[in-house]
Amino acid sequence: MDTKMNTRFQKLFFQRRDAEAAEKRRVSFSSLRASAVFAPLRFIGCALLISATAHAKLNVVVTTPDLAAIAKEVGGELVDITTLARPTEDPHFIDPRPSFIVKLNKADVLIEGGAELEIGWLPKLIEGTRNPKIQSGQPGRILANEGIAMKEVPTALDRAKGDLHAAGNPHFMMDPANARLVAQHLADAFGKLDAKSAGIFSANLKKFTDALDVKSAEWKKTLAPFKGREVVAYHNSWLYFAERFGLKIELFLEPKPGIPPSPAHLAEVIGKMKEMNARVVIVDPYLNRKIAETVARGTGAAVVDVAQFPGGVKGTEGGYIALMDYLVNTLAKALGEKK
Ligand SMILES: [Zn+2]
Repeated sequence: MDTKMNTRFQKLFFQRRDAEAAEKRRVSFSSLRASAVFAPLRFIGCALLISATAHAKLNVVVTTPDLAAIAKEVGGELVDITTLARPTEDPHFIDPRPSFIVKLNKADVLIEGGAELEIGWLPKLIEGTRNPKIQSGQPGRILANEGIAMKEVPTALDRAKGDLHAAGNPHFMMDPANARLVAQHLADAFGKLDAKSAGIFSANLKKFTDALDVKSAEWKKTLAPFKGREVVAYHNSWLYFAERFGLKIELFLEPKPGIPPSPAHLAEVIGKMKEMNARVVIVDPYLNRKIAETVARGTGAAVVDVAQFPGGVKGTEGGYIALMDYLVNTLAKALGEKK
């Protein structure tokens, strides 16, 4: 691993350490308060809890918040979902917390993106679990990219050069048509694991896909006036989105996925942006916004905050449809203003 990537890991580590310290403080305060006030009720609470879980919910662990949002739509009240990555974290570089092993040991189902999105952190965790249900090839192990037409699958392995997309571009969830396929896949898989509830999973699926279909037509209409417009991205997470909506997102601040931008590469990007009149730079919450701002300053472009995960930017907490609503409307606004 090169030093630049190490620095990125360190940065992620310190941010997370601070966040975790804050979380611990919150937890210890609330447990003190709980033991003082609710101790007499604890016994009754336990009894209620046992009766509520008589029809056991599927215990679902999901690697990323986008897949978790779809699992929630399909699973509804019949699944308990734990998401490993936070919406503001880089899915390629999750720093495994000890709690992950505990969660994976209890899981009935593990949903991962596949296409090596999580290759840097998930395989080691699975090795560390003793849970047979989520091992490779088991019904409880779900690869979301199964049945998805993967794009940019390289003919020669390029991982040695640091390319994070060595098995094709893993950010397929940015196309709502792929989110639809994933929802169907999850409804099938949940139905096999909990056959008694298969009808409920199908009904949940229909409700979600009906809403998604209506929205997809609306999103297409909103972005139609901007067909062919160039948008610059920091990382190549936007290929599927661009192709679905007729935008061109082909120029990146990273020279390769996962390789930090060099001054020489950025100078080249600025030159190309001027040539192609690219007026919008999009940046995910875990990437270096300052670099995007510098590039934008050099070209008169606008920096637009985007996220691949619900909750990654404000206003997208409601789920996958809320996220796509935000992305489509924010981009349409920026492209309309920056002609
Ligand atoms: Zn990527």
